[in-house]
Amino acid sequence: MPELLAPETVTTWGPRRLPVPYVAHWSAERSYGQRVTMRPDAGGIWYLDESPADRDAFDMLWGRMGEAPGEGRPNLGAPHPVRQRRAQAERLCQVCGRAASHTRDGWLFLMNHDGSNDYEGAKSTKPPVCLHCAALASRHCPHLTRPVAVRSRRPKIWGVFGTLYTPTRGTSRLTAHVDEYLPYGHRASNWFLASQLVVALKRCTVVDLDAELAALA
Ligand SMILES: [Zn+2]
Repeated sequence: MPELLAPETVTTWGPRRLPVPYVAHWSAERSYGQRVTMRPDAGGIWYLDESPADRDAFDMLWGRMGEAPGEGRPNLGAPHPVRQRRAQAERLCQVCGRAASHTRDGWLFLMNHDGSNDYEGAKSTKPPVCLHCAALASRHCPHLTRPVAVRSRRPKIWGVFGTLYTPTRGTSRLTAHVDEYLPYGHRASNWFLASQLVVALKRCTVVDLDAELAALA
């Protein structure tokens, strides 16, 4: 297979010019404003200085993070909440930020092979990819140990990934439970701080990435 060059829109970093995904978090991007606290009515969490922009259409509260992509060092393990959410919601390639690949079989996602080869309904925090970046990510992404290309005709917005807070009885202290998944509409929504948008892959087909790339060439 011929070496595929990264589209010019993929940011690279360091002397080895490693590709850095569009959704990656950079060290100069920091949280701002007040931290989450319990609401005065003890019915959930909020920011004391909250604005409508802190919540999505489902009234879910989101973590705050400034945007300065390309500044400082990239953290390939932690996506930026705004760019991850934008890529999931608008079906943008998580690597280059342009439109993700879409064919008759649906949108292209890269998953880790789970042994069963059945991805119907699988929940993914990883946004889709374009075909060029799929080849790039298969080689470079440290999280893809056994990459498999899955197309989904209906990637359904399912919910969020983030931190669930629970109150401590009789105090205003909150206990944080990190790395939790929560579907939209769940009764614990008022106590959740979202950091990533989760889609459920529906109407899935496992596809041959090499064959698709060859057809493209
Ligand atoms: Zn791409």
